[in-house]
Amino acid sequence: MSDPRPGLKPIPITRPWMDEREAEAARRPIARGWVTQGPEVAAFEGEFAAYVGAPHACAVSNCTNALHLALLAVGVSPGDEVITVSHSFIATASSIRYCGATPVFVDIEPGTFNMDPAGIEKAISPRTRAVLAVHQVGMPCDFERILAVAARHGLPVIEDAACAVGSEILWDGAWQRIGRPHGAIACFSFHPRKLLTTGDGGMLTTASAAYDAKFRTGRQHGMSVPDTVRHAAARVIFEAYPEVGFNYRLTDIQAAVGREQLKKLPEVVARRRRLAARYRELLAGVEGLLLPAEPEWARSNWQSFGVRLPAHCNQAAVMQALLDQGIATRRGIMCAHREAAYPPGTWRSAGPLSESEAAQDRSILLPLFHELTEADQDRVAHALAGSVG
Ligand SMILES: *Cc1c(COP(=O)(O)O)cnc(C)c1O
Repeated sequence: MSDPRPGLKPIPITRPWMDEREAEAARRPIARGWVTQGPEVAAFEGEFAAYVGAPHACAVSNCTNALHLALLAVGVSPGDEVITVSHSFIATASSIRYCGATPVFVDIEPGTFNMDPAGIEKAISPRTRAVLAVHQVGMPCDFERILAVAARHGLPVIEDAACAVGSEILWDGAWQRIGRPHGAIACFSFHPRKLLTTGDGGMLTTASAAYDAKFRTGRQHGMSVPDTVRHAAARVIFEAYPEVGFNYRLTDIQAAVGREQLKKLPEVVARRRRLAARYRELLAGVEGLLLPAEPEWARSNWQSFGVRLPAHCNQAAVMQALLDQGIATRRGIMCAHREAAYPPGTWRSAGPLSESEAAQDRSILLPLFHELTEADQDRVAHALAGSVG
């Protein structure tokens, strides 16, 4: 990357925290000779399940595929509808369309960028089959209210927890990690933009042994016998293919890296919380800037720190001013319904999506990652205050 200004160190939007520990871990499966969906994947699943507090965890190739398997597991079929938000990475809505189903978009609440539970009831139709709730950029959504509405209508709730590893929600008076089953299934991403990365990767957690069994056959071509069972068998076993499945495997090389990343996660979450609190202090005095709010029942992992610019500000101009000072930012999370891949007829909404659109048009995401220094942060805050004021 070329330095836009000599002497000014570029500050990226994010950077995974990886070092010799991950590199060493990747050697293990390579030396062992079992490099996909083997013992490292099994160990990673067990350790991830223990970390979030879930009875079952099933590793897959990425979160988009995890969402696909989750929707299929709860029975989403062609012609069905799934209630979700447009204001999310496009994979959320696209996973619904993988099933031949139609996303039905509910607007967000401006303070948390998450689904407004009050919008769900109006969105329900006779074709509604499930609710797909997103914990956007790691901020837990109002899951208790979402679950209550869904339960009244007998709808399963899937969590798009792509960004939310290490985030917590207050549940029955105790802090619980996202991924401990509150709904039917939670899906995580290990893309480098998230707190724990395996390059690419994903995980499904659930309390249901039946769902977990479906994920395991679904990720492996619908095969009746897992490789691990054939490998350990003393007698010859022939597999069968009772249904069409997918190749959604995570490799053992990725899982070995993931196990190291999981060990670092508590430190990563703690650091991000300190940095987010510091951004809050540094930016508190900037007039008209709306800072992200943690409801009293939510603890974010601060996967991103998004600020809403004052009305008079031009989003692109502010981003350019920061870029000119070597600071990378991103505009607010996208809205799927505004993309060419989502023409009318491919989605529905029960009301306006104005808060979703405003969040995309008026927010920017600031650099936030484990190795961001306080001096970097001071530079970001100073540049932002200068370009907003
Ligand atoms: C990153 C992300 C995904 C997709 O995850 P992949 O692992 O890249 O497939 C889905 N939903 C949300 C909200 C995300 O942020």
